[in-house]
Amino acid sequence: MNNRRKFIISSLSGLAIAVLPKLTYASSNPDVVVIGAGAAGLAATSELIKNGKKVICLEASNRIGGRAYTDNEIFGEPYDLGALWLENGDTNPFKIYGEKNSKFNLYKERIEEMYAVYNGDKRTSQEDELWNLYDNTEAAIAKTRKDIAPIKVVPNQDQRWFDTVHTIIGPWQMGKDFSDFSCKDFNFDYEMPVSAPWHCKEGYGTLVLDMYKSVPVKLNTKVTEIDWGGAGVKVTTNNGVINAKKCIVTVSTGVLSSGQIIFKPKLNPEKEESFNKISMGHYNRITFKFKKLFKKKPKDYYLYYKIDSQNASSPEGFCTTIHPSDTKLCMCDPGGKFAFELAKSGEQESLNFALNELKKIFGNKIEKDLIKSHSVDWSNNPLFLGSWAAAEPGAFKYREILRNSVGDRIYFAGEATAKDWGTVAGAQNSGVLVANKIINI
Ligand SMILES: Cc1cc2nc3c(=O)[nH]c(=O)nc-3n(C[C@H](O)[C@H](O)[C@H](O)COP(=O)(O)OP(=O)(O)OC[C@H]3O[C@@H](n4cnc5c(N)ncnc54)[C@H](O)[C@@H]3O)c2cc1C
Repeated sequence: MNNRRKFIISSLSGLAIAVLPKLTYASSNPDVVVIGAGAAGLAATSELIKNGKKVICLEASNRIGGRAYTDNEIFGEPYDLGALWLENGDTNPFKIYGEKNSKFNLYKERIEEMYAVYNGDKRTSQEDELWNLYDNTEAAIAKTRKDIAPIKVVPNQDQRWFDTVHTIIGPWQMGKDFSDFSCKDFNFDYEMPVSAPWHCKEGYGTLVLDMYKSVPVKLNTKVTEIDWGGAGVKVTTNNGVINAKKCIVTVSTGVLSSGQIIFKPKLNPEKEESFNKISMGHYNRITFKFKKLFKKKPKDYYLYYKIDSQNASSPEGFCTTIHPSDTKLCMCDPGGKFAFELAKSGEQESLNFALNELKKIFGNKIEKDLIKSHSVDWSNNPLFLGSWAAAEPGAFKYREILRNSVGDRIYFAGEATAKDWGTVAGAQNSGVLVANKIINI
C-alpha cells in the first residue's frame, strides 16, 4: 500500500480451498501453530514445513488468502475484492513467481498521463492546481519527521482541491484520514527500494493461492484463546484444543484489539496497547461494470474528481480505477472514517453513493448503461475489521512493540508487523522472517 503511495508521488509529479497437500500438516503435537492463512500465515507455514518443522495452520474462514481475494463469479471475470496492485514489482515475490508460471499474465503498470481530473461535470483544466497541491501536501508530510498527524503540518487546507488531495494521500493510500496516522509512520520505509506496481490479469488473490496451493490449512477453524501459561502454547479453537511449542499470530490488529482471541495469562499492557495503536485503517471497494461508459479507456486508468466535503476531517469521496488489471470494471475505493461509516450503512447505500458521484460527472444516463454492481465491506467483517494498519499519531514506537515475541513462544507476523507494511508482499515477508527466527532457535 505504502509503495503505491510512493509510486504515485514519482509518477504524478513529474474460495479457494486449501489444496491437497504435498506438504503435510502435523495433526497432533505440532512444533508450531500458525494462526491465519493470509499471505503471512501461508508464507510462515510453508517456510517452517520446508525446514522440517511440524506445523498446523488454522484459518477461521472457508478460504485461504485473507485480504488477497479474487472472485471470478460476480462479474464473470477476475475481480480483486482486496489487494490489487503488486506493489514494488521488481522485488515482489508474487510477481517473481507469476512471471515464471505461464498460466499467469503479468504486466507492469504504465504511468504517463493515465488519469483524468474532473471538476464537477467537466474535464478540468485545473490539473496543475491539483498536482501542485498534491506535491506540496505530500512534501510537508514527508519532511515531518515527528510522530504527529499530517493535519498539523499540511498547508493550503483552504484550497479548492484540498479534499481531493486529502482523499488521495490519506484514505486512498493510507486507509486513514489526515488526523489519524503518524507522519513518522508514513515516512518510515522511505529508504526501501521502490519500483512500479505490476498487475496480474488473473487477479492478485489467484496468484497468492497458486503460490501457496500446496500449503496445508485447516479451514473453518477459529482460534479463540492462546494459553501460554505452561511451557508451550495451548491453542483453543471451535474445533478443539491444540498443544504446541510455539505459535505465530498473523491476524489483523483489528482482530487482535477486538479481543476475539484471549491471551492467558494476559499480555503486558504495552503489548496489548500496540494492537490498538497500530490501528486498522479503512478502505472498501464499490465496483461497477458499464456497457459503454469507459469503453474506450485503457487499462489501469485513474479518475480523480473534485471532492467537496468542506474540509471535513474525513472527506466524502473516493478514487476510481478504470479497467484495473485489464478487466472491464470500474472500482470506486473510498477510505478512512468515511468508508467505515458508508460501509456500515449497508451495501445499497454504498452503491447509491458511488453511482451518484459518477452521475455528477457523467450524467444520469449512466444508470441505464450499468450492467452490474457490487461492494465489499472489510471494515465490519469480524475476521479483518479494516483494510490495513497504520500507527496513530504519537504511537510510532508501537510498531516495534507489535513485532516483539512474547515469552519465546508467541510470535507475531502479518502486514502490520512488516517493514513494507500494508502490502501483501510485506505480509509474506514478515511470515518468512518470523518462521526463520523460529527455525534458527
Ligand atoms: C480493499 C483492500 C485493498 C488493498 N490493496 C492492496 C494492494 O493493492 N496491494 C497490496 O499489496 N496490498 C493491498 N491491501 C493490503 C493487503 O491485502 C494486506 O496487507 C495483506 O493481504 C495482509 O495479509 P496478512 O496475512 O497480514 O493478513 P490477512 O490477509 O488478514 O490474513 C489473516 C487471516 O487470519 C484469519 N483469521 C482472523 N481471525 C482469525 C481467528 N480468530 N482464527 C483463525 N484465523 C483467523 C483471517 O480470516 C485471514 O485469512 C489491500 C487491502 C484491502 C482490504
